[in-house]
Amino acid sequence: MTVEKRRVVCPKCDSINAVPRSRPAEKARCGRCHALLFEGAPVELDAARLRKHIANSDVPVIVDFWAPWCGPCQAMAPIFAQAARSLEPRARFVKINVDDNPQAARDYGVQGIPALFALNRGEVAARHAGLAEANLLKGWVERLAG
Ligand code: ZN
Repeated sequence: MTVEKRRVVCPKCDSINAVPRSRPAEKARCGRCHALLFEGAPVELDAARLRKHIANSDVPVIVDFWAPWCGPCQAMAPIFAQAARSLEPRARFVKINVDDNPQAARDYGVQGIPALFALNRGEVAARHAGLAEANLLKGWVERLAG
């Protein structure tokens, strides 16, 4: 019998872990650094790490492009954090500071923030400009992660 696995990128060291689907992913730890693969919280990444996560993740990656000076981004933050708590490990939740990573924002055609993206196996599966409700994120994860 073959064990079906999915690739999960470590939020701490970016190692690519193969996690059996039969195993509860919320308890899985990284084979290299032993960090929990899902901590129920968004992960702050830079452009290079974002590329690695998107290219190697078999779970959808939900991205919040934000900046510290942006009021609506501050309103979005607790909604996004709550979504990570309730929807991981079905998806990975990632934050990108556009002040520190302007190229990442350009790569995805981000015109204003907050900007939310659902990336699935390297492709943009959904996007939303501006503040969003929790149900939007939940709907994305349900559609993409099943
Ligand atoms: Zn690790």
